[in-house]
Amino acid sequence: MAAYPQTRAGSHQGWRLELNDEFLEPLFVALTLAGIVVGVILERAGASPAVLLGVHLVTYVVGGFYAVRAIIAALRERTIQVDLLMVLAALGAAYVNAWTEGAILLFLFSLSNVLQNYAMARTRQAISALLKLRPDTVAVRRGEALVELPVEEVQPGDVVALRPGDRVPLDGTIMRGSGNFDESALTGESMPVQKGEGMHVLAGTLNQSGALDVLVTKPASESTLARIIDMVSEAQARKARTQSFLDRFEQWYAMGVIVAVALFITFVPSLFGVPFAQNFYNGMVLLTVASPCALVISVPAALLSAIANAARRGVLFKGGAHLEELSRVKVVAFDKTGTLTHGHPEVTDVLPRPAVSADELLAAVARAEAQSEHPIALAIMSYAQARGVVPQEPELFEAVTGMGVRASWDGVETLVGAPRLFTHVGLVVPAELLAESDRLADEGRGTVLLARRGAVWLGLVTVMDRERADAAEKIAALRKAGIERVVMLTGDNARVAEALGRRLGIDEVHAGLLPEDKLRIVGELGRKYGPTAMVGDGINDAPALAAASSGIAMGAAGTDAALETADIVLMRDDLGAIGYAVGLSKRTQRIVWQNIVFALSVVVVLVSLTLTVGVPLPLGVIGHEGSTILVVLNGLRLLVHSE
Ligand code: ADP
Ligand code: MG
Repeated sequence: MAAYPQTRAGSHQGWRLELNDEFLEPLFVALTLAGIVVGVILERAGASPAVLLGVHLVTYVVGGFYAVRAIIAALRERTIQVDLLMVLAALGAAYVNAWTEGAILLFLFSLSNVLQNYAMARTRQAISALLKLRPDTVAVRRGEALVELPVEEVQPGDVVALRPGDRVPLDGTIMRGSGNFDESALTGESMPVQKGEGMHVLAGTLNQSGALDVLVTKPASESTLARIIDMVSEAQARKARTQSFLDRFEQWYAMGVIVAVALFITFVPSLFGVPFAQNFYNGMVLLTVASPCALVISVPAALLSAIANAARRGVLFKGGAHLEELSRVKVVAFDKTGTLTHGHPEVTDVLPRPAVSADELLAAVARAEAQSEHPIALAIMSYAQARGVVPQEPELFEAVTGMGVRASWDGVETLVGAPRLFTHVGLVVPAELLAESDRLADEGRGTVLLARRGAVWLGLVTVMDRERADAAEKIAALRKAGIERVVMLTGDNARVAEALGRRLGIDEVHAGLLPEDKLRIVGELGRKYGPTAMVGDGINDAPALAAASSGIAMGAAGTDAALETADIVLMRDDLGAIGYAVGLSKRTQRIVWQNIVFALSVVVVLVSLTLTVGVPLPLGVIGHEGSTILVVLNGLRLLVHSE
């Protein structure tokens, strides 16, 4: 095949088959059949050779039109398509006056192409279904009035009005009102989510209840939905390794068959004394049964179905190659915060030192964290607000990745973070504070933060992030899916991490890591145990996601960084999706290989039969096209995979 993911007949039309082709191609197939029937009847009735020739020629033209068009398009790109073998065989049949049999070949071949196009179109439905999720027009507030505008014309900053039952047209933030949102179209998660003022809503989700005003934050072309659609269509165009190999193989193989058949026609009559015409006919059968149509479609049929299935469940593979890679993964490394845990920590203890009040400690910590976007900072801010601490902004702020924050106001610096933050800036943490912090961590009180303002150690704050309820179960399921080693990578304290690791049944825990350490360890795991998948929340784990053989971003609906870096994006915040994706990728590989082996076996059997007992052309064509269709149907089974 010249260009994946195009199908064979009319392949330069690719996936955007125009309406008239969609209509004309089956019509031509029907006309070819009619031509064959008319030809046979006229022949029986003893029509003149000129009339018969006319009917045959017309039959050949309608039967071969799409194949020839595809061949020409391929030749322009200097590639050979398997269609060429079919057309040559049909011409050869005509040459030895087996017009009817040649026409049957063209009929079955083009019929099979129409069926394939139809079947493969089903894999595209996942995408067109996504496209339908976005309404074309939306009600935009202009002063007091509501104007109905096409989505493309709505700009960030506009306010749109949503009624109950409306699909969200664009990504935005709720300004007024609240409602339940069904996000299943994007995330595969069927439980509606309650959302109120200040929360983000995504284009394509369904507002089930409540009238709301939404402030648009992104133009239509940049909405999460638009990007998912782009990604899935791109994924279908990217080749898996097996696929690129097959593409090259097809070229050589097709040439080889043409040369072999040419030699067969030239030398067999004189060497074995077979009459020329009979041998030529056999040569045409050989050309047909040896051509690798089934082989060529075997891989895309499976990969496209799998990608479509996954997209429906909110798992986006950025290409067939990533399915292949995931199927080989031996190790899964998890980021802790936001992945194994909910990523919404809560403050558990505020422990000021003797000379400091709790309010003083909390106010300082909250002000230092005011500009941080880390989940820990968010936990502290909401805890402080709940206690009536009015959040004030610091004058200077710096986030020290993986360690904590430093901020200044009134000319005095405040540091909040893990003990190593202080070591990092050249301070020595008092021994009794360190001991206290270790004790709290050992007691399982969560992540312990130290705070210091100017020269004064203010005290300790602990925050705790609950693990996902189903984490242990989903990790056990991963092992069942064939993952040999499960690893945790975290920037958090070793004691907190190890306690969690034991509860979840994780083999190996690496704690106290900076983002670059995660990257290094992912590389080491790969060398030690084999292909490694990294699962992270996609924001601060980006380097490790890129380094892993499969980078999986989790809970990514709406986050740009995750959509960009990862190979596989889980729209939903659900660990179960990883087991599902691994299972799907393995099953896809199995079906790919079933298809390849089956396709090759059919070729071997048919070629052997042709060379020994002889096979009539129509029977050879049925065997050949039948195997092609079986391979496509086998691939389509992946559309209904679930786990
Ligand atoms: P993880 O790898 O678990 O996602 P991070 O690398 O983001 O964690 O952070 C590692 C550690 O750095 C945290 O456990 C905490 O001790 C400290 N830290 C990071 N950001 C902050 C912050 N904004 N305030 C306080 N401490 C922080
Ligand atoms: Mg994290």
